Amino acid sequence: MITETFIIASIIAGVNDFKAHFTSHGNTECNFRYNKMKTPLIIEQHFHGAYGVDFNKAGVNDILELSQKLRKTGIGKFFPTLVTDSVSNINRQISIIKKAAEQDKNIAGIHLEGIFINAEKKGIHNPEHLLPLTVDNYRLVEDDFIKIVTLAPELDKGLIDYLKEKKVKVQAGHCTGFGNVDGVTHTFNAMSGVSHRGVSTALSALVDDNVYAEIIGDGVHVSDDALKLFFKAKPADKVILISDALPITYSSLKETVFADSKIYYDGNKATSSAGTIAGSTKLLPEIIQILGKKGMFNPEFIENSYHYHNLEPDGFFELDEEYNIHLI
Ligand SMILES: [Zn+2]
Repeated sequence: MITETFIIASIIAGVNDFKAHFTSHGNTECNFRYNKMKTPLIIEQHFHGAYGVDFNKAGVNDILELSQKLRKTGIGKFFPTLVTDSVSNINRQISIIKKAAEQDKNIAGIHLEGIFINAEKKGIHNPEHLLPLTVDNYRLVEDDFIKIVTLAPELDKGLIDYLKEKKVKVQAGHCTGFGNVDGVTHTFNAMSGVSHRGVSTALSALVDDNVYAEIIGDGVHVSDDALKLFFKAKPADKVILISDALPITYSSLKETVFADSKIYYDGNKATSSAGTIAGSTKLLPEIIQILGKKGMFNPEFIENSYHYHNLEPDGFFELDEEYNIHLI
């Protein structure tokens, strides 16, 4: 006879009996298997908005409402990410995001992606707003709430050391070089690719075990083979899943203006009029489902963001066999 106590004990055992196996570094298959697991809420450290809210344009209430929606999907803390923009717009949005953060502890800091990147790898960023990587230029936008800066190390003129002193996470992205960085921004995208000669940002990201590496596993930005290479090469405790989601994500918009560019969404991917792939149109809960079904998801990836930013979880969820999130 199955008693209530037995059922409860089984659930607890299921949660605790967390089994995540990676079929060892070096196998051709990346295959994580596990039972029911208790996982801290997801941290999104790189996305530009969702549900029609654009962090480069949003008001305080837009951001607070977005935070509520994110929480229901399993995302806890997040870092609103500002794409390259004018100094005045960036300053305006920093103060708006800070005001929202005073009322909502899920807003963990700002990720500044741009103005200090390499025009050669600009992606959809507007090169008109790019600035040389000097401390003086950083002071034009400097704020304690900026916790991550994506920049091009090969163009550094003293900014990296300054940011490190201030304990701001420095990430190489939209660049061709590498250097004294804490992390790498959307590995493979908008950087020099894996190459056996010369400097390759992607290759350095893969082989430097001390550096955290962001990856967009949405099935659009990085091919399955490149994902396999990434998960084989990168120590599991240095993987940071990101969505790089665009404001158009989970909205009914088919086109929008983002980073001064018109962006078109065809139901699968978002591109500029020139066909350049923009950010993703999925948030991390959906990306986790995509990776999970490919046998490429490891819950450790979520914990990594807590270690990277020295944050404590304040909520948990469980994943079922279909990688659906159930808040607990
Ligand atoms: Zn981005």
